Amino acid sequence: MHDVVIIGGGLVGQTLALALAAHEVSAAIVERADPDSHLAAGFDGRASAIASSSARMLGVLGLGDCLAREGCAIRAIRVTEGLRPGGVHFEPAEAGDDSPLGIMVENRLIRRALLERVRAEPLVALHAPAAVTAVERGRAGVVVRLDSGVELAAALLVAADGRRSATREAAGIRVARWHYPASGIVTMMAHAKPHGHVASEIFYPTGPFAILPMTDLADGRHRSALVWTVPARDAAGVVKLGPRALAAEAQRRMGDMLGEIELVAPAEAWPLGFHHAERYVAERLVLVGDAAHGIHPIAGQGLNLGWRDVAALAEVLAEAARLGLDLGDPSVGARYERWRRLDNSLVAMATDWLARLFAVPGRPAAAIRHLGLRAVQQLPPLKRLFMAEARGEVGDLPALLRGELA
Ligand SMILES: Cc1cc2nc3c(=O)[nH]c(=O)nc-3n(C[C@H](O)[C@H](O)[C@H](O)COP(=O)(O)OP(=O)(O)OC[C@H]3O[C@@H](n4cnc5c(N)ncnc54)[C@H](O)[C@@H]3O)c2cc1C
Repeated sequence: MHDVVIIGGGLVGQTLALALAAHEVSAAIVERADPDSHLAAGFDGRASAIASSSARMLGVLGLGDCLAREGCAIRAIRVTEGLRPGGVHFEPAEAGDDSPLGIMVENRLIRRALLERVRAEPLVALHAPAAVTAVERGRAGVVVRLDSGVELAAALLVAADGRRSATREAAGIRVARWHYPASGIVTMMAHAKPHGHVASEIFYPTGPFAILPMTDLADGRHRSALVWTVPARDAAGVVKLGPRALAAEAQRRMGDMLGEIELVAPAEAWPLGFHHAERYVAERLVLVGDAAHGIHPIAGQGLNLGWRDVAALAEVLAEAARLGLDLGDPSVGARYERWRRLDNSLVAMATDWLARLFAVPGRPAAAIRHLGLRAVQQLPPLKRLFMAEARGEVGDLPALLRGELA
């Protein structure tokens, strides 16, 4: 018998298991893929911008060394409309604030560090690769049957099985969903000039073109991640361009800011969409991460929202366990949902609005956006609010996001 069964061992599901274990709550993870296959370079070439609050939680959960070794601090963010001079510059150091806005790390390396910690944690049982053949949720508890014949019993089931969550669908929870007519082309580039820990978001009518600072390559060359939004119909063609032609196209969009560039990883195309579950809870079931919500990557916040779900749910369950409550009691799930829904909704709406605003074509729209960015640049309080959002430091933060156990 476990306290919790988590279906889905992605970045959110594994982090949740570790967060629960840190509070003496046991968990079984069921992951359908072979976790070692998720560490291969070709599985997920993305890197994530980890907000400072998420980084604090990962530190408490034993990933601090990974972030210190593999992470590259983002110390400033520059947002411009095309390559026009001006725009908004978020530079906390200008105001004497030395802490970074976030940390860039390859997803593969976070997965590897999480898996090592999960395998070493006695309060976490990892079943992978494993397929769920049946789920029973009832008044007395939850039973999850696996294709291996194993039966897992727990008080609560957590769906962390991503945007197409079968667990969510089987529970009849509906989602609001739409697709953006765009894909994110993701790759890595080496470049001649140092990035100076600056992330650049350059807006074009086809979508944002983001350059994110990464640690230098082993041969000493400077390196950045690229997330380039293109119309969905062009994505396959852009990926097929090959590294030289793609580098030439990218160079045209970023100018000489980093000197000559060379692509050092294959390009991948990720479809972009929005979804938000109408509820995060059902009988003895809770949704977290992309199973509950998925947003446009324009502000690099999707995974951070999932990690904020993790911190809130771990705190709610730890307190319930301490009080001897049933972890599947509706009041426990309701407290989690109340804590997370507003933040998730606000960030989801803001990113959707931004993605649409910057996609309006034509010169007049571009001129208005440019003026808007200049206005924000003149408003230090608004800039401070944006920086606090980027760091994930707005609202009622659970203990883990403050770097503490609940
Ligand atoms: C181009 C792009 C760039 C992004 N950049 C950022 C960024 O910089 N910062 C940020 O915060 N976010 C970013 N995001 C968002 C982020 O990648 C996602 O929000 C995050 O990966 C979601 O993690 P998850 O664990 O909830 O879901 P997933 O990563 O989808 O994991 C779900 C897991 O569940 C497993 N699974 C599914 N079904 C079953 C089943 N039936 N049984 C067992 N296991 C199952 C899957 O195999 C998988 O391992 C980006 C997204 C995109 C598309």
